[in-house]
Amino acid sequence: MSRVGVFVCHCGNNIAGTLNVEQVVRAAGAHPEVSFAADYRYMCSDPGQELIRTAIREHQLDAVVVAACSPAMHEATFRKACAAEGVNAYRCESANIREQASWVHQKQPEAATDKASDIVLSVVEKVRRNASLAPIRLPLTRRSLVIGGGISGLTAALDLADAGYPVILVERSPALGGKMRQFSRSYLNLADGEQLLQDRLSRVSEHVQIQVLTSAEVRQLSGYVGNFEARVARQEPEGEVEFTFEVGAVIVATGWDPYPLERVPWLGGGSHPDIVDTLTFERMLLQPEGLRRPSDGRVPQQVVFVQCAGSRDPERGVPYCSKVCCMVVAKQARAYRQQVPQGSACVFYTDIRSGGKGYEEYVQQAAEQYGVLYLRGEVGRVEAVDGQIRLQGEDTLSGLQLELTPDLVVLATPLLPAAGVQELAQVLRISADSNGFLSEAHPKLRPVETLTAGVFLAGCSQGPKDIPESVAQGGAAAAKVMQLFSQEMLLQSPTVAVVDAEICSGCGACIETCPYGARSLSRVRPVAVVNPALCQACGACAVICPNKATEVVNWDAGQILAMVGEVS
Ligand SMILES: Cc1cc2nc3c(=O)[nH]c(=O)nc-3n(C[C@H](O)[C@H](O)[C@H](O)COP(=O)(O)OP(=O)(O)OC[C@H]3O[C@@H](n4cnc5c(N)ncnc54)[C@H](O)[C@@H]3O)c2cc1C
Ligand code: SF4
Ligand code: SF4
Ligand code: SF4
Repeated sequence: MSRVGVFVCHCGNNIAGTLNVEQVVRAAGAHPEVSFAADYRYMCSDPGQELIRTAIREHQLDAVVVAACSPAMHEATFRKACAAEGVNAYRCESANIREQASWVHQKQPEAATDKASDIVLSVVEKVRRNASLAPIRLPLTRRSLVIGGGISGLTAALDLADAGYPVILVERSPALGGKMRQFSRSYLNLADGEQLLQDRLSRVSEHVQIQVLTSAEVRQLSGYVGNFEARVARQEPEGEVEFTFEVGAVIVATGWDPYPLERVPWLGGGSHPDIVDTLTFERMLLQPEGLRRPSDGRVPQQVVFVQCAGSRDPERGVPYCSKVCCMVVAKQARAYRQQVPQGSACVFYTDIRSGGKGYEEYVQQAAEQYGVLYLRGEVGRVEAVDGQIRLQGEDTLSGLQLELTPDLVVLATPLLPAAGVQELAQVLRISADSNGFLSEAHPKLRPVETLTAGVFLAGCSQGPKDIPESVAQGGAAAAKVMQLFSQEMLLQSPTVAVVDAEICSGCGACIETCPYGARSLSRVRPVAVVNPALCQACGACAVICPNKATEVVNWDAGQILAMVGEVS
């Protein structure tokens, strides 16, 4: 007989607003192996955890069910509370009565209450059969691989190296620095982009802990968190040379790529040399002889900037806002007015997105102090007629239709994910979103992690960002890696698949089925073996095995049948 404690959480009104929690407590308390059942407003709070701990002591509980939110939220919290009182952490289970009962059946409180009682009782049936387990301990390689040598990758590499951890920095192009190399200057303080980079570049090149491989790409990543093996191919004058590195973590900082001008044909993209994108304009501002337009080398006297040129346009361009271009245009228009004081600069915008400390003021100054004309409205068409650029637009505030013949048009085109990032995502076993940027594990709580343990994101690989944000993310990703490396050994959940070698026929069906590559045939005898570091306890192998030779620890067939039996 077990002595199970059941703790039903109100989650404020999230659960108690729909369910009759007292009824759930009564249903649980009626189970012969439940020695104690109670409810509380917030089980995850300190008093809630104290309630669990006191009950364990006073009622000599040896297993616990917390009926509350999803285990993804607080299972670790409750397991820790149990372990503090000597109840094995794996004898504590969450029964999800919020996402699976109260939230989804708000309009049927009685049925939701019955369902919650069933969920709780089925988890009681499971937990009383749970074995006491200890986490699996795995060794750890304290070296990282940083992919991409832009500002975010450089920051991550330096932070890790300064903390004493060796870094392999792989950059696809022949030089480090990313897009910042091409900037004339950078907002807010207009510091020279190249100068801002120089400090980091020289520190990286001199750092004993950083090995840089330029003109190189990651071809393969095998293994798992703490113990990856990366195959890197580098282009050298004699041909391709391959290197293999053992690393414990990977940071992906592959940045962004420019949008091809030809993809905005309605704005004249690709039709005339004096219709350029903002990245080209950065380089034009850097010309030693001063700003000259591409077609005839003359100083442009009238420059029109078009914002959202392809962004926020799901029909013709990309659906997302590229986030940095409102500020980039303000910077460039100011720079133009400084270089060509007699020239005129006009900006067509839909709305200005300048969220950031001092950013709004910076854009306002462009208009008020630098004389840049901001026109709210859409540019319908830009075309080249007899070598002359014609721009038709509308000033929606005055209602005027405008036809301009500027010397130069600068299109603030979207930031795209770096070319080849989808293939890289496959190699790293991480996912990308519908726009092709790499997906973070959680948009609010885990912004630099991916769903593959040990692989982290930084900078524009995850979505458009400016330099301060990219630097912050590079630092955050490095901090996550340091957190990983600070552990003596890697602790892995022991609830993984196991194989009964006496029954296994070595048919291999489970090896093909395992989505995480965690299974293989033993080298010594024809039976399946599991790499516990890779197993995610999905159970697919247990389902496919024709001999019932494999199951997941603490999710065995007896437990599952007992859970089903309780609710049927
Ligand atoms: C015109 C323009 C001007 C801008 N000006 C400013 C400004 O003034 N201030 C500001 O804060 N922000 C500015 N930004 C935003 C700025 O460009 C980004 O914030 C910054 O570049 C992000 O850095 P990153 O390291 O994430 O990416 P990137 O700078 O794009 O660097 C990524 C690096 O990864 C490499 N790479 C890509 N794929 C691979 C691969 N598979 N393997 C290995 N290496 C790979 C690339 O070659 C590159 O070196 C501007 C943006 C634009 C479009
Ligand atoms: S940052 Fe500004 S210009 Fe760029 S897409 Fe967003 S709103 Fe448009
Ligand atoms: S439980 Fe899932 S991840 Fe683990 S070995 Fe079986 S199929 Fe692979
Ligand atoms: S499916 Fe079953 S019998 Fe076949 S190899 Fe896997 S564990 Fe062994």
